[in-house]
Amino acid sequence: RRRKAPRTISIFGATGSVGASTADVILQRQDEFIVEVVTAKSRVAELAAVARRLGARLAVLDDPSGLAALRAALSGSGIEAAAGPAAILEAARRPVDLVVAAIVGAAGLAPTLASIEAGADIALANKECLVCAGELFMATARRHGAQILPVDSEHNAIFQALEADNVRAVEGITITASGGPFREWTAEAMRSVTIADALKHPRWTMGPKITIDSATMMNKGLEIIEAHHLFEVESSRLHVLVHPQSVVHGFVTYADGSVVAHLGAADMRIPIAHCLGWPGRGAVATPRLDLAMVGSLTFEKPDFERFPSLTLARNALETGGWATNILNAANEVAVDSFLSGAIAFLGIAATVSEVLDAAASAFGGQAVESVEAALAMDAEGRRLAREAIGRRHGVRTD
Ligand code: NAD
Ligand code: MG
Repeated sequence: RRRKAPRTISIFGATGSVGASTADVILQRQDEFIVEVVTAKSRVAELAAVARRLGARLAVLDDPSGLAALRAALSGSGIEAAAGPAAILEAARRPVDLVVAAIVGAAGLAPTLASIEAGADIALANKECLVCAGELFMATARRHGAQILPVDSEHNAIFQALEADNVRAVEGITITASGGPFREWTAEAMRSVTIADALKHPRWTMGPKITIDSATMMNKGLEIIEAHHLFEVESSRLHVLVHPQSVVHGFVTYADGSVVAHLGAADMRIPIAHCLGWPGRGAVATPRLDLAMVGSLTFEKPDFERFPSLTLARNALETGGWATNILNAANEVAVDSFLSGAIAFLGIAATVSEVLDAAASAFGGQAVESVEAALAMDAEGRRLAREAIGRRHGVRTD
């Protein structure tokens, strides 16, 4: 693969945590990129600001009611403005070399698939779209010859540790977990976790959804499913290891006993810089790892009793595409409900478990073969989750 320079790039979810880190990397290597599209859900001022900073050609807001405000915020810049879900999809079809998929949740599925179909390579942060429709996603990528570059730090680590010629000699893939804010809490204390406790991640500053997923460890569950699709490795060879220092992000164990690990500071600009530079490696002023400062690295097994989400996700992966789709949908609703104070922390995994049981009769055995099917299943998973949460609290949720 030879790369022409400069390359065109679009950022979906440009106002988020990954979006901001991506903008930072691009600004350091400005002569290598032409920014085509930046998108956001509803934050007009932030979207206009990042569009201006990056000199984007088009800024798109998912919320259609924000179009006039976005136009006003961009006036005089020469940057086009658009709004609404259809405009996001249309923007995803604009031909570019690389799309950074950094929308959170299943909302990122349709635009990312549209970008793949339009011929872009994908720097993929949005793990939920693989959990929602991983087989469809990877099949679409293969059909269109799209390179999927993992932004998620653990998967980026594994991508770097995997040797193309030796994939058959992979004995196991291990992704590490910081363990989140409740690693050392008792099961009893975890019953009265507050929203603020759960938002206090020990190692990473991230958007609210993934921060809560890290606290429940559903994030690692989603990441096992993500790794299965990205690397075509079955569940029994995918492992999670708790590593509170977040220095080793992942490692591959080969059939000859070699273990190839990836180390780095806990900063998303590092995997993002790798994806943006790939297959080369440019100089980027990311934080450097100082192992003498870190001193020691520790590892421990995850606690499946206190973190049932890990088992829910593992079982869903082994059950099939419908189950991971429903797992993701229910989890998105449950995390939102926790963040709005409607359910307790432990209610997140309980809701997901209940919804998986409820959905089994309707969807058991179904494959997720089209984006429409994936989104219909996702909508039903969300409905079941709202229903389960409503039942639990005797409140109406419609
Ligand atoms: P975030 O909440 O900070 O940002 C999300 C972005 O998506 C924002 O720009 C928002 O405007 C946009 N968005 C949200 N809902 C949307 C919708 N319905 N339609 C269109 N746009 C929408 O999230 P984040 O932490 O940057 O995470 C983004 C993705 O990257 C997630 O899938 C997450 O799991 C993954 N990820 C994040 C990190 C991290 O360090 N933050 C690390 C690994 C993976
Ligand atoms: Mg990760």
